[in-house]
Amino acid sequence: MKRPAPSRFLATFCVTTILGSGTAMAASEAPHVHGHGTLQFVIENSQVDIVFSSPAGNLLGFEHTAHTEEEKTVVRVVTEWLSATPLLNTPSGTCTLKASEPDVDSYAGHQYHDGEHSDIQVSQTLDCPGTGNAPELTTPLLKQYPGLEELDVMWVTPTGQGGTVLTDPQQSIRLN
Ligand SMILES: [Zn+2]
Repeated sequence: MKRPAPSRFLATFCVTTILGSGTAMAASEAPHVHGHGTLQFVIENSQVDIVFSSPAGNLLGFEHTAHTEEEKTVVRVVTEWLSATPLLNTPSGTCTLKASEPDVDSYAGHQYHDGEHSDIQVSQTLDCPGTGNAPELTTPLLKQYPGLEELDVMWVTPTGQGGTVLTDPQQSIRLN
């Protein structure tokens, strides 16, 4: 699976985020690799803008349209969790969710065609007072979704940009 060069990717991500179209950008750039996901964020003052993208199977356990009541329940539970849970936090848990837009709708509707791969994407805005003093952040994603085995994390802050790969639910994201 080809991946975009990190530096070019981040520069594009940064620019498109400023222009307000970060979500569309991430959707076109994120590779679909089962077990993998991407988490991109931009920190400015206490605001953190996040785009999370993952093959649907990592979170739902399937990528087809939800047919059974059990599958529909899984879609609803995952959507509710993504709507209510900050995907990043400081170690002391100071982040609050200002907005969350999970795009899981296609799995509950009729637009989706069985047999294709599909992704879940979530855009979030957090208010994280004290982020400037917290050189590390945590994410609940790997613990919540064991199907997400590897998370590529990329960020832009006022002082620079960086990236890491998380493979353990206990790992934190060190910004420096
Ligand atoms: Zn797939």
